[in-house]
Amino acid sequence: MAKIHILDEHIANQIAAGEVVERPASVVKELVENAIDAGSSKIDVSVEEGGLHSIRVTDNGSGIDPEDCETAFYRHATSKISQGRDLFQITSLGFRGEALPSIAAVSKVSLKTSNNLNGKGRQLVIEGGQLKVTEDIAAPQGTDFVVKELFYNTPARLKYMKTIQTELGHISDYMYRLALSRPDIAFTVRHNGNTLLQTMGNGDLLNVIAAVYGTGTAKAMLPLQGEDMDYRLSGFVSRPDWTRANRNAMSFIINGRYVRSYALSQAVLRGYHTMLPINRYPLIVLKLDMHPSLVDVNVHPSKLEVRFSKEPELLSFVEASVERILKQEVLIPRPARQN
Ligand code: ADP
Ligand code: MG
Repeated sequence: MAKIHILDEHIANQIAAGEVVERPASVVKELVENAIDAGSSKIDVSVEEGGLHSIRVTDNGSGIDPEDCETAFYRHATSKISQGRDLFQITSLGFRGEALPSIAAVSKVSLKTSNNLNGKGRQLVIEGGQLKVTEDIAAPQGTDFVVKELFYNTPARLKYMKTIQTELGHISDYMYRLALSRPDIAFTVRHNGNTLLQTMGNGDLLNVIAAVYGTGTAKAMLPLQGEDMDYRLSGFVSRPDWTRANRNAMSFIINGRYVRSYALSQAVLRGYHTMLPINRYPLIVLKLDMHPSLVDVNVHPSKLEVRFSKEPELLSFVEASVERILKQEVLIPRPARQN
């Protein structure tokens, strides 16, 4: 008798969920990225008990066609790419079609969505990957996702959740980066009803820096701009006297996606050269835009790491741009500002 068989979709989704949904913050990240991809100008995130009790993400984006709602929860179901060559030209945050089935496999999900202005929409309720309700409803254009009791059916994973404060810390960290990556979107983040972050969505990055790090920090930032054949760079770097004890406040946004990059942070530090006190790090928000073929985002399911096809060139460009603005600052110091 044959011993090898293909796992059914339900088990496959639970396995994939292990990679995509590590903790409440991963759910927030995936839902908010979907809201961004849907072209939303306003995204509200509301979590209870560090997201362990519930996570709600409401957007005013394109919405999902009622016909597509159930399909969206199948594995590898996506509206964002369709051909192999699209993988080398990714312009959306999502493309793997894994988030919704993974989240739905390990929680209780309610989706309300409408893709039109005439108020007609669809509601779906899915628990542990099983469809419980699908019905027509009245709904405003956009999508409203509620995820409850994350990991209720995977006790081993639930056991590994940290305190509410730790889980909330991961959520707000992601939300800060997402807000910094999209100053054109108005974000609100609430925890147990208290507002943690609110941005205006007027496109002004310095405004978002002030909302995330405070107005004192925003005043200590130097604007950065640069361009070469392949790369366009913009953003802010802190004055060398405005530093932190770790590199957590160094944010890199590549083609609109927040990523982690040790190599890029090292390049920035080289740009500061000897201006930083020992073991101190600047606060920076760097946006880099490049042709999608120059960066591979398909390194890990979370897409937080990327590979650059011309890394040495990119790193020296970043280093030189940072060095240039800091030298200018030393030559023509700005008047001291009050915090
Ligand atoms: P991916 O983002 O990789 O395409 P997901 O599983 O996250 O995969 O989502 C599946 C599909 O569901 C998306 O491709 C999109 O068409 C649709 N979708 C999910 N969330 C939203 C949303 N907030 N607004 C509009 N469409 C959405
Ligand atoms: Mg997605």
